Amino acid sequence: MSENAMPGMAAQLGANGQNAGADDEYLRIVSAAPQNDESVSDEELRPESLDSFIGQPQLKAQLQLFLDAARKREVPPDHILLAGPPGLGKTTLAMIVSHELEVPIRITSGPAIQHAGDLASILSSLEEGEVLFLDEIHRLPRAAEELLYIAMEDFRVDVVVGKGPGASSIPLTLPRFTVIGATTREGMLPSPLRARFGFTAHLDFYPPSELQRLVMRSAQVLGVNLEESAARQLSLRSRGTPRIANRLLRRVRDWAIVHDLDTVDVGAVEDALELYQIDKEGLDRLDIAVLRAVVESFGGGPVGLNNLSAMVGEESETVETVCEPYLVREGFLVRTPKGRVATQKAWEHLGKLPPKDVNSLF
Ligand code: ADP
Repeated sequence: MSENAMPGMAAQLGANGQNAGADDEYLRIVSAAPQNDESVSDEELRPESLDSFIGQPQLKAQLQLFLDAARKREVPPDHILLAGPPGLGKTTLAMIVSHELEVPIRITSGPAIQHAGDLASILSSLEEGEVLFLDEIHRLPRAAEELLYIAMEDFRVDVVVGKGPGASSIPLTLPRFTVIGATTREGMLPSPLRARFGFTAHLDFYPPSELQRLVMRSAQVLGVNLEESAARQLSLRSRGTPRIANRLLRRVRDWAIVHDLDTVDVGAVEDALELYQIDKEGLDRLDIAVLRAVVESFGGGPVGLNNLSAMVGEESETVETVCEPYLVREGFLVRTPKGRVATQKAWEHLGKLPPKDVNSLF
């Protein structure tokens, strides 16, 4: 995201305004969190209309109806909550809403708002119809959250004047605006806050067919001559996540430039991603280290998170939030009450014969 992300639209970013994921510190090429050099390149690849937003057909149809209705009623739409893992298009959708409704968008995030007063000053400067995008809304401080309830429901903030027993609050009426909240942890949102959203959308990981289309579109924007089969190969290694697909595409583009390739084919994708140690299933060095530890050091498991993390030399939070979700989703690892267990697929992926009782371990 950059300031003035869209021409003529105010944008505000806090000190920590990006989607700080749990894997912020650990800059892996297959991380779904945005990385330092990506704010500009993310921007150029962001679709600006719902039509050019790829995939998520159900969500798109619902959102289209929701926006059309607001347009016909000539009022700003209800508040919108976008929930789902990082890198799936929440910020992009918020910008699309502002673009489609031709209203400005103000961008900030839960961690960037340290005091209720920070939020009060943003709210009191909003224009009629403006979109307020609150990324990582689950990380808003409690006092700001309470202020937000009132603002969302009654379009009012109470400005506190003075201190101590003499303090009084002056209600300030706000113009009608639309909050778009984004969260990677919907479960952490208090139910009163959740209840204030008129429309909630859940973003899911993208199937390879959709990512393939997305990669082809991005290649066109970046001026990369990409073969369909190469796009397919990229889509299979992108963990269902557009941000990762775009990042891998950029690394492959670098490869093509350095090797003077006019066209990027499957071979170029395979060679480039081998250099970055991303295998055919989208697993990187750390994922493989985790699988190897479970299989080779703990006989396939079960192994507790702390032992496993110590074995691969990583923080347990990194292993739990960065590696495991994908390994579990793709059926390499199972979480059991006794610990993590490697599946038959994991053994085979490492080129090893699984034990006969591999399925009885979970
Ligand atoms: P999030 O806010 O969920 O972390 P973003 O909206 O910042 O994710 O998306 C990350 C990148 O992926 C952006 O560059 C955006 O262009 C691209 N992207 C995400 N979803 C789509 C989509 N459905 N179609 C095209 N590009 C997408």
